[in-house]
Amino acid sequence: MDVFSMMGRRNHEEVVFCNQPDIGLKAIIAIHDTTLGPSLGGCRFYDYATDEEALTDVLRLARGMTYKASIAGLNLGGGKAVIIGNPETDKHEFLFRAFGRYVDGLGGRYITAEDMNTTVKDMEWVRNETRHVTGISKALGGSGDPSPVTAFGVFVGMKAALSTKFGSDDFNGRKVAIQGVGHVGYNLCRYLNGAGAQLFVTDVNAEAVTRAEKEFGAKQVDGEAIYELDVDIFAPCAMGASLNDDTIPRIKAPIVAGAANNQLAKSRHGADLLKRDILYAPDYAINAGGLINVANELEGYNRERAFKQAEGIHETLMAIFKLSRDEDIPANEASDRLAEDRIRRMAQLKTSFASTPSRPRQGR
Ligand code: NAD
Repeated sequence: MDVFSMMGRRNHEEVVFCNQPDIGLKAIIAIHDTTLGPSLGGCRFYDYATDEEALTDVLRLARGMTYKASIAGLNLGGGKAVIIGNPETDKHEFLFRAFGRYVDGLGGRYITAEDMNTTVKDMEWVRNETRHVTGISKALGGSGDPSPVTAFGVFVGMKAALSTKFGSDDFNGRKVAIQGVGHVGYNLCRYLNGAGAQLFVTDVNAEAVTRAEKEFGAKQVDGEAIYELDVDIFAPCAMGASLNDDTIPRIKAPIVAGAANNQLAKSRHGADLLKRDILYAPDYAINAGGLINVANELEGYNRERAFKQAEGIHETLMAIFKLSRDEDIPANEASDRLAEDRIRRMAQLKTSFASTPSRPRQGR
């Protein structure tokens, strides 16, 4: 495994290998870019087959966080951590406390949070050892479940897509198909129902579907049929890679806008959507509400301010759609360009001024 060439490929700043065999901790922290501010990203717990697989994953995820923070207008960089192990059997207090000490050793260059297979409780153990952790429970003064803010961000992002595609962001009479009505999907249904949209939902969890049927009058759709519905918006809110060679030709909706991470199986699928004249709201731009929510906690959580900042996702998407149209490039490429541009400008600002604020405010 050639670590430096793996880091060099995408310009990662720093990688920390955490090794405490007595405690059972084997973890990697990756910091991609701190031009905009301290790196922030969740800590995953996963039983990777090889160390190389873990490193590849953490480098990819850390870079993704740089783009997400930048497009969301936050003063944060991109980082991520992975703890290698079985989440069912290997988790315990001192493993997380040991991880917390490594995070603390970075002096704030990396801020951790919960992620796949880690919980608020795990992060509370981490918090015993460092203050560089966010996404703590409400009871301890944290922000709690981020999904209502994520859903709100997706809702305002859908409005931007509607007005770009149809010249009006009125949901009355619009049909929206939602794949996955879990934490975010459920809250999204609530906003859409309130705005007058007609809902079609699918989920592998029958209870989740029943709840959406009962509370929002949603119509149930069987699995794969969700792609082929004659609706205005298709909203992927479940797993990644739902936009691929097989599904894109079947999508009838003129807009794809949803919360799921990594919706495009490959980045070239963004171009396939454009070719089919489907307006795509890039996932990491429209689902940034969750990150906005935890970033807010860094300054003392204020729910109203978090929602206000998430409202900015509308403006961000309008800028992405405009660049995509003006330059005739896929929306995911337009989003990447805007995110990179913001980082470049901040780097220029830093070279023009000898000193920068020690801890810039978060948000717009
Ligand atoms: P969740 O686990 O609460 O909900 C996901 C739902 O999708 C579940 O109800 C699950 O049963 C369903 N599902 C799984 N596979 C499916 C399939 N093949 N077909 C249909 N339904 C399926 O997760 P969530 O927190 O609502 O997040 C949803 C997506 O949004 C994820 O991709 C997540 O990474 C992303 N996201 C979430 C947040 C957040 O604040 N929670 C923030 C940013 C991005």
